Amino acid sequence: MTRRITIFDTTLRDGEQAPGIALAPHEKAEIAEGLERLGVDVIEAGFPVSSPGDFEGVRAVSGAVSGPTVAGLARTRKEDLDACAEALAGARRSRIHVFIATSPVHMEKKLRLEPPQVVEQARWAVAYARVHADEVEFSCEDATRSDPAFVAHVCCEAVRAGATTINLPDTVGYCLPDEYAAFLLEVRRRCPELERATLSVHCHDDLGLAVANTLAGVQVGAGQVECTVNGIGERAGNAALEEIVMAMRVRNGRIGAETGVVPGEIGRISQVVERLTGYRVQRNKAIVGASAFAHEAGIHQDGMLKDAETYQIMDPTELGLVMSLPLGKHSGRHAFARACAEAGIELDRAALNEAFVRFKQLADTRKHVTLADVFEEVSVR
Ligand code: MN
Repeated sequence: MTRRITIFDTTLRDGEQAPGIALAPHEKAEIAEGLERLGVDVIEAGFPVSSPGDFEGVRAVSGAVSGPTVAGLARTRKEDLDACAEALAGARRSRIHVFIATSPVHMEKKLRLEPPQVVEQARWAVAYARVHADEVEFSCEDATRSDPAFVAHVCCEAVRAGATTINLPDTVGYCLPDEYAAFLLEVRRRCPELERATLSVHCHDDLGLAVANTLAGVQVGAGQVECTVNGIGERAGNAALEEIVMAMRVRNGRIGAETGVVPGEIGRISQVVERLTGYRVQRNKAIVGASAFAHEAGIHQDGMLKDAETYQIMDPTELGLVMSLPLGKHSGRHAFARACAEAGIELDRAALNEAFVRFKQLADTRKHVTLADVFEEVSVR
């Protein structure tokens, strides 16, 4: 049995919070159009009260897409909720995402509120948001460093006040996968009202565990995942959309969950986000990195030329990406011969052997070897 998981993309909100990114409203709209083609369910477009530009960004996204729900972020303050509602007014379907911190350190040091005050603010803000948007999502900020009993109490009040999605983020990227799963189960056990809402997970990559934690959450029943294209976001980033989607697809038999994302759009949206944010995708990044489908070792190249299943668990062409067999010091004769043939260089066996020896000598001393390098110095008969 496969469950359909809601993809809540926050590239334009948490993703934009990565240091050094500032997207203009028309750039947010362009990314949102790509996200709509990609097939995400919810686009979190920004934090409207945070700046006039972000307000306009959320408004631009609301007018740019017609399929996905458009969400805006708000604290439990009237001015935040009003700004959110106004920025989302043009959306076909709107969601106010209201949050308040529930961990002792955040309540004491940042909010300077007593726990009962936090409960009351959450209840009030959700009820207020409920009459100003089609859907309300409520998040316990820093949930994973909070007392699960308190989180459950706040969540129950939020659901009773009208929240349709409850998000329990690992805000600081601290959790381990089994721990996060246990935390979610504990909160659900203590709050039966959660059965009436969609449980959401939101993970950060401070320990490189954002995607692992997200999948652990899905495996214990989360119905929504929050993620960003290329994994951009605060500090080390958010859980990467493309990794979550492809893990669910490639390992569907084990995870039992699927999304509405169109794999063929993954390559394109990754490039659009890279271009508009200026955040270069790390070369060895899973799924969308330049080397993610490059096979250089001779044994691997030989296998790939015989059958791609030997070293590839997914087909890059299905993602709008390409497989490559780069020539380097680890490459073998088969890949070299194929590269020559593809370049229209016809060689008999002896000439090929001679060229391959020369290629290996060059490859030992240079990072990149092209056929031009090889044949410049080797006579072709
Ligand atoms: Mn976050």
